Amino acid sequence: MTKPDAKHNKFSKPVTSGKDSILTDTFGRKHNYLRISLTERCNLRCTYCMPAEGIQLSPKEHIMTYEEIYTIAKEFVNLGVTKIRLTGGEPLVRKDAALIIEKLASLPVALTLTTNGVIVDKFIDHFKKCGIRTLNVSLDSLDTKKNTDITRRNYFEKVYQNIMLLVNEGFTVKVNCVLMKGFNDNEIIDFINFSKKLPLHIRFIEFMPFDGNRWNMDKMVSLQEVLSEVQANFKKEEIIKLEDAPNDTTKSYKIKGYQGTFAIISSVTNPFCDGCNRIRLTANGQIKNCLFSSKESDLLTSLRAGKSITAIVQKAIQTKHKIRNGMDTLDKFKQIDEHNNRSMITIGG
Ligand code: SAM
Ligand code: SF4
Repeated sequence: MTKPDAKHNKFSKPVTSGKDSILTDTFGRKHNYLRISLTERCNLRCTYCMPAEGIQLSPKEHIMTYEEIYTIAKEFVNLGVTKIRLTGGEPLVRKDAALIIEKLASLPVALTLTTNGVIVDKFIDHFKKCGIRTLNVSLDSLDTKKNTDITRRNYFEKVYQNIMLLVNEGFTVKVNCVLMKGFNDNEIIDFINFSKKLPLHIRFIEFMPFDGNRWNMDKMVSLQEVLSEVQANFKKEEIIKLEDAPNDTTKSYKIKGYQGTFAIISSVTNPFCDGCNRIRLTANGQIKNCLFSSKESDLLTSLRAGKSITAIVQKAIQTKHKIRNGMDTLDKFKQIDEHNNRSMITIGG
């Protein structure tokens, strides 16, 4: 399948991607990156993502159909979105995941996915056909037992093999690892060394609070702590700071001579809100203007009623706070009532 060129969008021209686009907020941030959650379901049960007792799933009829996902995505592309990430839950467990990927691949966007990697092997040819070249795969430990503990399922070998498969098939693989004190903080160097002979991009994520994940600040491993560990294990001249793009959520580094890189996503201690270009669409058709916003805007009900969704999108963008839904200091962030937000499994990261 050939990917349509953005300049020859067969659907319609972007309304505008300039300052006056409705996707530009009151702080001048242009939201050109849409993250779509395909499902609230998952084949893993990561402790940091969902409560032990599971979550209350939305009724099936409240979940967007593939046609609705495509219609909403197309509307966003017309408004100026140039990148779409599929997430979940686990996006690939949705029965029509392949169809959704194929439909969205026909839009003039960079299409990508965040996955736990368990069933990625079944999609390799489809990804290639649809022009997907980069994937984020979550893996929180290189130890089988620890991995089983954190995911409450036993798929470590499968995920590990699938990461190798993706690399061998020429995909760019970013490995997402949520660090937690006393659990996997002793694996920081192991993960970096995992990228010594493989072109993997390791991304350490600061543990964030969401409903039911028993967050507390003491469990979180900060950007500074990761860097201290790296500095204790590598010589100063071996640690190379890489340039970060304006919308990057990561602070990126490389160890001299290593094929891969590593980066830190520090939403808690060092928020990157200044360059935020993300809009999140949940599987039940709500948009969130910030990961930490409890307020949601319902697109699906309007879409089903045959009404335009543009005004709802515009309002959501215009009411976005400058920093983390108003929690502009670490002290305010520590006071967060995570029960006001969804569980991460129903947001999508
Ligand atoms: N199932 C897919 C996966 O695991 O990659 C996609 C959905 S998952 C919600 C997206 C990302 O969010 C994953 O990389 C996961 O590690 C991250 N995540 C989930 N809960 C988190 C938390 N409390 N703090 C930081 N990152 C989290
Ligand atoms: Fe599932 Fe991903 Fe959440 Fe783990 S992080 S429970 S794999 S959605």
